Amino acid sequence: TNPDEDFVLKTVKSRDVHFVRFWFTDVLGTMKSFAVVPGELEDAFADGMGFDGSCIEGFCRTQESDMLAFPDASTFQVLPWRPEHNAVARMFCSIRTPDGQPFEGDPRHVLAQTVAKARERGYVFNVGPELEFYYFKDAEGTEVLDRGGYFDLTSLDYASDLRRDTVLTLEKMGIPVEYSHHENGPSQHEIDLRFTDALSMADAVMTYKLVVKEIALKHGVYASFMPKPRSDAPGSGMHVHQSLFDLEGNNAFFDPNDPQGYRLSKVAKHYIAGILKYAPEFCVITNQFVNSYKRLICGGEAPTYLSWASRNRSTLVRIPRYRPEREDACRIELRSPDPAANPYLAFAVMLAAGLKGIEDELELQPPTEDQDLFALSRQDLRRQGFHTLPESLGEAVELFATSDLMRETLGEHIHSYLVSAKRAEWNEYQGNVSSWERDRYLAVL
Ligand code: GLU
Ligand code: MG
Ligand code: MG
Repeated sequence: TNPDEDFVLKTVKSRDVHFVRFWFTDVLGTMKSFAVVPGELEDAFADGMGFDGSCIEGFCRTQESDMLAFPDASTFQVLPWRPEHNAVARMFCSIRTPDGQPFEGDPRHVLAQTVAKARERGYVFNVGPELEFYYFKDAEGTEVLDRGGYFDLTSLDYASDLRRDTVLTLEKMGIPVEYSHHENGPSQHEIDLRFTDALSMADAVMTYKLVVKEIALKHGVYASFMPKPRSDAPGSGMHVHQSLFDLEGNNAFFDPNDPQGYRLSKVAKHYIAGILKYAPEFCVITNQFVNSYKRLICGGEAPTYLSWASRNRSTLVRIPRYRPEREDACRIELRSPDPAANPYLAFAVMLAAGLKGIEDELELQPPTEDQDLFALSRQDLRRQGFHTLPESLGEAVELFATSDLMRETLGEHIHSYLVSAKRAEWNEYQGNVSSWERDRYLAVL
């Protein structure tokens, strides 16, 4: 028998668990769940639990809708915000087809496969994401809770208690938090998770987003990970710190003798070159909504230029300089993703781009240390030869549609689903006449 499964069966009894939620995500990264009673668990571990996949976004058509969810016992956690008596727990699941094959529309499977590919080449992929979000008094997001700014700690920061409750809940679920603070925007906050391997982290990100929202509701407010919820305030990003460790636990990105002085190895530099080369192609994954591009093109410290540096925060990839002598702290930070991305697919495409850079030994362009890219106009930067991320969902989906690396990494099923779903979203948006247009044009034209 499997020790993790035995542990689950024992804990269900000792913690008085009456509902075990099976969690998985659709292609866009929305959490899906159904609850199973304890008596079903043994069978579920052995044979999976059936469900109808046809209603899940990006899964399948009705004529082939029977799917099986196999719970991963190592992800078992009791949900601390639910009652202690008749408690509720969760496990993440992998999805299989009725003939027992991994389902290629399952984002968790896509990440597991990409991570396995890295492992074959001798690497463990570690990530540490920084998710930003806004609190609002109402579900429509019209009123913020506070007028605080970056790192503010005053009576303005009403949300301190909310963050405290959120961090404690995450820690009870085995998700260590490294930092939490007020961000630049009014009522904008950030909680950063301590780095770990990418699959555990994608599960942790799904949990984190749910916990932030649940705790907000408990306090009578609302949280949103929308990339750009207000035109007059910065958007919310999900910077992703990343590194490759070898199988002995050494950081393959670290080289104290780097002639450029960044303490980065050749592997790290090829990896960054891969990220810079493929960022336009994977942008529809890291920034998947019409609204994502409003964050990217409207300043607020979100990057658009395919550039890298250490001190300079206006670049797409930044090399953090905290504790530079420490091998385990050596990493790169990708600043374009937003927290509305599907974390499984987002981590998979970054890794695939970096690995491709290593495989093709791509040369890294010189860094952009001394230029504030935010201060220059797009036209000026283009003239200087800087390439940009796509400026809209419409542009992003077409770069993605013709990308071999994306089709290979995500598989035909998810790739073709996203091409048609994202084209449809863009077309619908373009056909919409907004209040901005009516205000600006109607009376004067
Ligand atoms: N909110 C900014 C973004 O959209 C990032 C601010 C920061 O440097 O943490 O990426
Ligand atoms: Mg931040
Ligand atoms: Mg950051």
